[in-house]
Amino acid sequence: MTNLTAKIFHNEAAARAHIEASRWADGVACPHCGSLDTMKMAGKTQAGMFLCRDCRDKFTCRTGTVMERSHIPLHKWLLALHLMASSKKGISALQLQRNLGLGSYRTAWFLAMRVREAMGLGPEAGPMGGEGKVVEADTTYVGGKEKNKHKSKRAAKPQIGGMGKQIVHTLVERDGTARSHHIPNVTGKTLRPILFTQVDRKSSLMTDTAGGYHQIGKQFARYETVDHGKDEYVRGDAYSNTVEGYFSILKRGIIGVFHSVSEAHLHRYLKEFDFRYSNRSGLGIEDTERAALALKGAEGKRLMYSQSH
Ligand SMILES: [Zn+2]
Repeated sequence: MTNLTAKIFHNEAAARAHIEASRWADGVACPHCGSLDTMKMAGKTQAGMFLCRDCRDKFTCRTGTVMERSHIPLHKWLLALHLMASSKKGISALQLQRNLGLGSYRTAWFLAMRVREAMGLGPEAGPMGGEGKVVEADTTYVGGKEKNKHKSKRAAKPQIGGMGKQIVHTLVERDGTARSHHIPNVTGKTLRPILFTQVDRKSSLMTDTAGGYHQIGKQFARYETVDHGKDEYVRGDAYSNTVEGYFSILKRGIIGVFHSVSEAHLHRYLKEFDFRYSNRSGLGIEDTERAALALKGAEGKRLMYSQSH
């Protein structure tokens, strides 16, 4: 860690300057109306406050980001973004609480959830794949407690407070990014809107032989299936090893760190794992840049909780 980056994790003024520079590289734009006719307020109690001369509203670098209405100092936000962006398997709320010196587990938990939201794809993200690109699609089950039971003995409904067997569907572009969804079942009805909105139809699609994909697959430029039931894992370039690799990272993270991921929040954890995978070292994106991308992602994301922490 260089002196410069260390400073933004300890000094509030340095942290604020870093966030303002990240957000407003082309001039301070009012988050309410978009005007560039803004001024920094000079009062002692107005640190970080700007005034828009057009709409006359006030704002700070937190306004309109996941940091809005949070009482956590900005330098702790930056450290949380850095830790979560650079950790290989993820970091638990308890670790975050300790590393940041936060007053309560609950505060750390809400912070981590907001960071996950920042890591999620924005509305500007187009479909994956494209001509000459290969996208693998597959599902896995997460939630260790239930996975060893026979199908008929598994809980019909996920358990409250812990996680029963949950289905995760992931799309991975080879040499590219990943997008995961928590899905209720693997029917064509569930899979269709995911594949059609997330994957460019000029792509080659590779799946296992699950029936849900059958009609959907035909809509893509090329469609290949791999029959895992026949131990057929690789046939030319028809394989799903890339998405399997993603699942092994996900499972190590979920099992090792997140002991009680509840069903309701699984999709937020998936954003975190997708983000790190899609911005990985193997694609030339290192820790500092990954944290910078997470910070950029903090903008324009809705607030998830009304509670202030
Ligand atoms: Zn304005």
